[in-house]
Amino acid sequence: MSSKFDELVEAFSKLPGVGKKSALKYAYHVSIDNSFAGLNLAHCIEDAVKALRRCENCGAISEDEICEICADSSRDSSTLCIVENPKDILILEKSGAYKGLYFVLDDINSDIVEKLINFTQKNSTNEILFAMTPGINSDGIMLYIEDKFKGSNILFSKIAQGIPTGVTLDNIDTLSLTKAINDRREI
Ligand SMILES: [Zn+2]
Repeated sequence: MSSKFDELVEAFSKLPGVGKKSALKYAYHVSIDNSFAGLNLAHCIEDAVKALRRCENCGAISEDEICEICADSSRDSSTLCIVENPKDILILEKSGAYKGLYFVLDDINSDIVEKLINFTQKNSTNEILFAMTPGINSDGIMLYIEDKFKGSNILFSKIAQGIPTGVTLDNIDTLSLTKAINDRREI
């Protein structure tokens, strides 16, 4: 057996959700079965890795220092949606139900909280909408953030119930997600 082939299988098996059997299938496909697709995939991956970064403002996936959403003056800058992961922004954008700005809270520390406070001051935010995976963890984060804004006039809301506890945004269909955004309630 070729060690290069083994290395390729190993690389695929490190991807999320890819087991040994799928890794073997993908490795065979891109190296032997359809080497053109394989080279194209390698090229796309390299291109994306080199070009993509996180938006300095909100943490979204971006090709520039500031992402397209932050740079878009037609967005409602008074509403801010807090998500846990940059991927969640792509999902919410696909639903088309939300027109405000975003902020990715992928870690809770004093730096990111300060960045969030600066963000809200710069944009005169008057509503913060939490779109997080329902659960004890996110309840704690919401309380913590709300506490940091004590004394401000910002309205806090979260996407509607109906999204089951522990279910991440990427497992919700667009229709339910749109409904959850439209039915958001004050907290
Ligand atoms: Zn941004």
